[in-house]
Amino acid sequence: YSFDGGAPITAGTWQAAYSAAQVALTAQQAIQRGAHCAFALCRPPGHHAASDLMGGYCYLNNAAIAAQAFLDQGHRKVAILDVDYHHGNGTQSIFYARNDVLFTSIHGHPEAEFPFFLGYADEQGEGAGEGFNFNYPLPAGSGWARWSAALDEACREIERYDADIVVVSLGVDTFKDDPISQFKLDS
Ligand SMILES: [Zn+2]
Repeated sequence: YSFDGGAPITAGTWQAAYSAAQVALTAQQAIQRGAHCAFALCRPPGHHAASDLMGGYCYLNNAAIAAQAFLDQGHRKVAILDVDYHHGNGTQSIFYARNDVLFTSIHGHPEAEFPFFLGYADEQGEGAGEGFNFNYPLPAGSGWARWSAALDEACREIERYDADIVVVSLGVDTFKDDPISQFKLDS
């Protein structure tokens, strides 16, 4: 299913989405081989894609695929830190009822920002996943002071969780001059 009109399927879409996921897995393998950190430049991005939903330019959830690969290869606890301006609704949905992946997201408040229907602070997981989902919605105009306070809180939760691995969904649309976002982070 598609939850918006932002993820059309055209010639080459599957090849692009599949290749982006392979890029994420290549970075994941670099970590498995001992790298301290690895950067995967994935296009199309993935954090709005759930297991059965595409949308928001996202088809396959690259971060979730990398997180699952870490678990499949012997890690017990993976944390995801999503710092894109928009809430990672797809990633949250995939792991919402699980406690082997902690999900944290700092983003524009969904009352005013895409994806609108998820990303509120009271979404904390369900079932076995209750207490393993942390959302930090922030108002338009938030700058470094407010944003970094939320980042500190998210990092504290990740530390408390004692994660083996941290996967970062790195959107840089939090920049002050981003044309469609309302945060005021400077370089
Ligand atoms: Zn974004």
